[in-house]
Amino acid sequence: MSDIIRLLPDSVANQIAAGEVIQRPASAVKELLENAIDAKSSSIQLVIKDAGRTLIQVIDNGIGMSPTDARLSFERHATSKIKNADDLFHITTKGFRGEALASIAAIAQVELKTKRDDDELGTCIEIEGSEVKSQEHCSCAKGTSFSVKNLFYNVPARRNFLKSNTIEIKHIIDEFQRVALIHPEVAFSMHNNGNEVFNLNKGSFRQRIVGIFGEKYNQRLVPVSESTDIVCLDGFVSKPEFAKKTRGEQFFFVNKRFIKNAYLNHAVQSAFDQLLSSDNYPSYFINLEIDPSKIDINIHPTKTEIKFEDERAIYAIIRTAVKQALGKNNIAPTLDFEQETSFNIPLFKPTDSVKIPTIKVNPNYDPFLDKNKKSSSHTLNRNNVKDWEKLYTDFEINSGEIKTAQQNLPAETSIEPEQASQTIISDWEDTENNEKRNYFQLYKKYIFAPLKSGFLIIDQQRAHERVLFEQFYKNLSENKSSSQQLLFPETIEFSSVNAAILSEIKYETAALGFIFENIDENTFNFIAVPAEISGLPIKLTIENLIEQFQSNADELKLEKKEKLAQSLAKSASIKSGQKLSPEEMNSITEKLLTCEMPYHLPNGKPIIISLNLEDINTQFKY
Ligand code: ADP
Ligand code: MG
Repeated sequence: MSDIIRLLPDSVANQIAAGEVIQRPASAVKELLENAIDAKSSSIQLVIKDAGRTLIQVIDNGIGMSPTDARLSFERHATSKIKNADDLFHITTKGFRGEALASIAAIAQVELKTKRDDDELGTCIEIEGSEVKSQEHCSCAKGTSFSVKNLFYNVPARRNFLKSNTIEIKHIIDEFQRVALIHPEVAFSMHNNGNEVFNLNKGSFRQRIVGIFGEKYNQRLVPVSESTDIVCLDGFVSKPEFAKKTRGEQFFFVNKRFIKNAYLNHAVQSAFDQLLSSDNYPSYFINLEIDPSKIDINIHPTKTEIKFEDERAIYAIIRTAVKQALGKNNIAPTLDFEQETSFNIPLFKPTDSVKIPTIKVNPNYDPFLDKNKKSSSHTLNRNNVKDWEKLYTDFEINSGEIKTAQQNLPAETSIEPEQASQTIISDWEDTENNEKRNYFQLYKKYIFAPLKSGFLIIDQQRAHERVLFEQFYKNLSENKSSSQQLLFPETIEFSSVNAAILSEIKYETAALGFIFENIDENTFNFIAVPAEISGLPIKLTIENLIEQFQSNADELKLEKKEKLAQSLAKSASIKSGQKLSPEEMNSITEKLLTCEMPYHLPNGKPIIISLNLEDINTQFKY
């Protein structure tokens, strides 16, 4: 019997290998674009025909190749990017395996034209099913052009596996975006069947995002950046109100390579915890620069997973950086005139008759009329809301105040202190004299607060809810709620269901400042309540608290402490429909602007809209 083992011819070996590297046209697009980046190009063009079935062409203006390199580039394991195994720990290029071109050439008809800057003539190579058909000098521009024609022409099984053109082109666009997004210093264009899909000039990261996803994104982005020994982070997250129902635009890059990582994704998502409900996904575009020796570079060409040495630390850094950005930056929603909700103003025809606008004014209106309120009273009447702000200011000096210390409550993550947008704050402080601010209440629901250069529109109920929420949450976290002893303890009977729930959360409600004892199963004797809610009917507040607490349980995946703080805030806040005096509006606004997250409720709903003079001028076409 003769020996039966043979070495496979290169063409067959390459074809088998190609199966792994090139699964669909989009994989070839990715490889060619990455090669163009590695070749230090400043301009890259992608031309596609028939979703990449008949043509994928990538033209770059990079360093080009010598005639020998051009020929060698199609060999398997031929690469200029690493020399030895040690280099594997310092990868700074996209490619390094030397497989892509060999694979592509095994399953397509490829034409390569390439020229280095100093060379007079370039090289043109035609290769088909790994077989070189021709190699000659040619005149061409500096850089490299790869034309990949009839992909999978010799692998019918693969070809038949391809999905519809719509799906294949979608994959190609995905790959194009992943490369183009993180290389804004490179100009890119993409054409499909002769139509321009993208034409991206060089610019900043922000400009590139806007170039790809549209002008609207400009005002949706909040910059995030952080620099530590382990990682440097840079990029943008979307403002909470632009979160999506699907995980569309979430981009992580590590050393400018697109990656997917569920754990790090969670870090970003959790930074939005108090701003978004869990079925909403923020967009993000974040690049992490990490020492290549601290990541596992043995990346499969088609895979996007990556392993980090310090994954937990990186998680914490990302989460903190995003949280900080959301609190610190100007994430107050602005009126988005480009959104679908923008007013549809009919064109004015000269034949139309003009109606003089009428303004209804109350000539007797004096915003300071009810200013002469009683100055310091602890027995606040909730129906007379004009004194409600005293609820915050007076309890500290109240002799009836008692502090409760809840030693055994588990310490949990707290909200890092952040301030409202510096621009809004300074605008706010610049505005003449606080007392002289002309507040204006619309529909007993919105507060209009003037700024130096524009104004804020504030949802009064949400604003008060946010203020109370932060106060309660802080009290809970620091275990120092301020209870206010009742002058006359109040005995209250609850339904048996509510009584059972109240007993269950007795510990936490005590941490909030409710002090009570059971008289019998359904009856409780209240001796103190949180200072912030003194004056409110206790029974109703507790019942609302329980109701909110239960409905919040389904709605949001929050920790118990947050849920409680939120429920009580909701229950105790002033409501829409309540008329507010200028002093009350001032008090709400001031307190809101010192909140850690003044712009959104924990469920992502906006609290403030800011409208600046520029926006208004733009609307009037100045
Ligand atoms: P890898 O990128 O892993 O090195 P490839 O098969 O993709 O392997 O490419 C092989 C080699 O061909 C590269 O290392 C590089 O030297 C050269 N090359 C490929 N594309 C280009 C290009 N667009 N411009 C210049 N050189 C290129
Ligand atoms: Mg490559």
